[in-house]
Amino acid sequence: MASIFEQLGVRIIINAAGPVTRLSGARMDEDVIDAMREAAQVCVDIAELQAGAGQLIAEVTGAEAGYVTSGAAAGLVLATAACVTGMDPGKMNRLPDTSGMKNEVIMPRSHRNFYDHAVRSVGVTLIEVGIPDRFSGAGVRDTEAWEIVDAMTDQTSAIVYVAQSFAQPPLPQVTAVAHKHGVPVIVDAAGQLPPAANLKRFVSEGADAVCFSGGKTIGGPQGAGILCGRRDLISAAALQHLDLDVYYDLWDPPPALIDKSALPGAPQHGIGRPCKVGKEQIAGLMVALQKFVAESDEARQSRWSQCLQGLADAIGDLPGCDISMDAYRTIPILRLALSPAERGVEVARQLMEGDPSIHVSTSGVYDGVLTFNPMCLSEDMIKPIADRLKVLIIR
Ligand SMILES: *Cc1c(COP(=O)(O)O)cnc(C)c1O
Repeated sequence: MASIFEQLGVRIIINAAGPVTRLSGARMDEDVIDAMREAAQVCVDIAELQAGAGQLIAEVTGAEAGYVTSGAAAGLVLATAACVTGMDPGKMNRLPDTSGMKNEVIMPRSHRNFYDHAVRSVGVTLIEVGIPDRFSGAGVRDTEAWEIVDAMTDQTSAIVYVAQSFAQPPLPQVTAVAHKHGVPVIVDAAGQLPPAANLKRFVSEGADAVCFSGGKTIGGPQGAGILCGRRDLISAAALQHLDLDVYYDLWDPPPALIDKSALPGAPQHGIGRPCKVGKEQIAGLMVALQKFVAESDEARQSRWSQCLQGLADAIGDLPGCDISMDAYRTIPILRLALSPAERGVEVARQLMEGDPSIHVSTSGVYDGVLTFNPMCLSEDMIKPIADRLKVLIIR
């Protein structure tokens, strides 16, 4: 029988752009696929599965509790909702109407990005602080911790912080002032792995809730992510995410995840319900996470570097091309600089339009730079990429 992709008329591409959502995320390891296959063949209580996964996430991150989301962005929805409602089921039922609730979320202006739709979707108002002036020519400063304090009111429910190596102000300063005023800090750490040490870092720097993508470097299903942090926040997140179509008397949530005795009643399906996570995603992500922490950063780097070196060797010397190894964050990449630089867009397009279709990272394309990320490549893809480049460039 034809594969489902053949049936649907969908091309299988060579993805040298890395595990981006637009190109369907990472390719998964056999063990991860096996776990998803196993999960697909049985039924479980999904809350019990979440509690078990949460235990593993807590161990790996050093957080009090953990939860599997449908991605880092979903984690932002759930964490924000948890900070706004606390354990109040009435408030959970009313979201995204936040009238009468603490409905302001502070964010350094320099951290604003398209993913903060997830935060705003909860019905909160973003309060931007600081002016990261890179425009006038005079700007050297970014947001400072005192400005966050200055923006706090009795309506402040959380601070959202997007982790980056260059993010300002430093997270420990933000968590220190936040906690002094009783405000939780949510960290978007979607793409901050590796190093694996970052699994623990943001929690240890005081973050109350941290979101990671499961489908990026962890190598889990593309529709999966991790939320970890304070137990009460994870609990409030779970209550707004799990399917609660159950009579209260017959509802036995795992105590480690939800303390039923602390609730006056159960909320209905919550604002996180559209971010549903399947058992296959949870099972796959847990295996991927275990494999991710079992491999050292050095071994991972050298595996990726070797792949790129193989690609560089296969490409060889091409006229008008300069090939060099570089790194994007902690991930080795191969840069191919074309001259004249105007060729960048043309070659990137021709790579995509070939058979097989090859996608590279194009952030430098207008400077003539195509970038190869090793994470979704396998040995057998090296030759087709090199052959195609030779055809396109030696013309
Ligand atoms: C990728 C990314 C997200 C979204 O992650 P998903 O797991 O795809 O939902 C959010 N924030 C940042 C900074 C990201 O890089």
